[in-house]
Amino acid sequence: MPELHIDGSWRAAIGGATREIRCPADGSLVATVDEGDERDTEAAIAAARRTFDAGEWPATPAAERGALLLRVADGIERDTEEYARAESLDTGKRIVESRYDMADIVACFRYFGTLAAHDAGRVVDAGSADVASRIVHEPVGVCGLITPWNYPLLQVAWKVAPAIAAGNTFVLKPSELTPHTAILLLRTLIEAGLPAGVANLVLGSGAKAGAPLSSHPDVDLVSFTGGLHTGRAIAASAAVTVKKVALELGGKNPNIVFADADFDTAIDFALTAVFLHSGQVCSAGARLIVQESLHDRFVEELVRRAEQIRLGGPFDEQAETGPLISAAHREKVENYVAAAIVEGAKLRTGGARPESPALADGFYYLPTILDGVAQGSHAVTEESFGPVLTVETFTDEDDAVRIANDTIYGLAGGVFSTDTDKAQRVAARLRHGTIWINDFHPYLPQAEWGGYKQSGIGRELGPGGLGEYVETKHVYHNLRPGPGHWFSGGPA
Ligand code: NAD
Repeated sequence: MPELHIDGSWRAAIGGATREIRCPADGSLVATVDEGDERDTEAAIAAARRTFDAGEWPATPAAERGALLLRVADGIERDTEEYARAESLDTGKRIVESRYDMADIVACFRYFGTLAAHDAGRVVDAGSADVASRIVHEPVGVCGLITPWNYPLLQVAWKVAPAIAAGNTFVLKPSELTPHTAILLLRTLIEAGLPAGVANLVLGSGAKAGAPLSSHPDVDLVSFTGGLHTGRAIAASAAVTVKKVALELGGKNPNIVFADADFDTAIDFALTAVFLHSGQVCSAGARLIVQESLHDRFVEELVRRAEQIRLGGPFDEQAETGPLISAAHREKVENYVAAAIVEGAKLRTGGARPESPALADGFYYLPTILDGVAQGSHAVTEESFGPVLTVETFTDEDDAVRIANDTIYGLAGGVFSTDTDKAQRVAARLRHGTIWINDFHPYLPQAEWGGYKQSGIGRELGPGGLGEYVETKHVYHNLRPGPGHWFSGGPA
């Protein structure tokens, strides 16, 4: 069956191109899928525009749209194994992690399914019985949704669920490296009863299949999750037609560990913060900022533990983390580490591919720790998006905050201390969108997610997530209209 979905039907790419999807864990062929380009995306935009402008879908009662999302959640829950397997084959991530992701995705659809029916706007008091004045939420229109490969369906869910809840139509362009769970989702949406033309799926590269979503005048909103440089290009392109823009970009996330932190807890979380999914997490705690007096003992233990992390493919039950997404991405991480060492960073462990012949066909890279990195150096300012931890030290509370905020990013960060007052004070001063205290990584569908500074524009999840997908309108209705309010000399 062809894999693009446009205007209610499955289609092959107009140009007839295909792409091989290979599992990053061993390079094996997962499938060959259709590879669309500008023409397919333009056809998908036209379908989404027609469907929106016809008016039936945006006028569907919000409670019905919510009920549909709840059916989608049930469908994904029922098919979790199929979804998780597809996700693991595309990304190389451990199947247990894909199962966790599916549970989060089900929760996301349930959250927006419930929220849809309750986002009815509000009445505002105009101070007169002769005026009805209300704030209403209406769908934005046609949404272009562009997503990355690290949490493929989770990132899709964070956009598709609120877009549907608010009554928009959309064109989804998932990462060309990980298309399979988006294809499965389209099947589930159709089964749940989503009308033709509301959800359109194009597969293909960002430059060809993705680019029209930020430039085409018939798209009203572009919501993008991915790298900073791509995000800047999308925002610039979207500015020409003044689209609504939502961006969830990268991060170089500080993890501050005070000397009074519970040692074992802080070690465990410092490892999870950076090495989960081999560091391919936007909120990865890749920047350890540890109090000077604790540094030696802490880093020594981190190195010892990092060297024991077991690498392996999705179905290897002993594996604790997996490969990087592609050969090109591994090369990028290797270049990042090499440049850091040239800049003076001390390689404490890793910095190489694993030697095991069993891993030779996958894109593996050892958990890596770079100590003594200089503030302002590229190792500290740039995201590696791999299993690489940089280590800096601080003297006191003010110093920790100053160092942690010294970045163009502002996505997330952690604080470890047994002094709760201090931890709260530091959290309040960090210029990052999510702060964990004595924890790292958990998020809640009902809490908003998004970055300060160059980590993004707008919020996903939570009630604010729906805010990206609705236009907020003040309706002021004079219930006794008549002439003569402004100028004298009109009719009496
Ligand atoms: P990427 O920017 O290379 O690609 C993301 C998506 O954009 C892909 O679908 C790609 O095909 C598409 N794309 C590329 N160029 C495009 C263009 N000109 N027009 C339209 N679409 C285009 O990012 P990636 O490598 O897939 O993902 C990794 C990045 O994503 C990291 O920087 C990570 O921090 C970020 N990320 C952020 C969050 C968050 O919530 N803030 C979540 C996950 C990932």
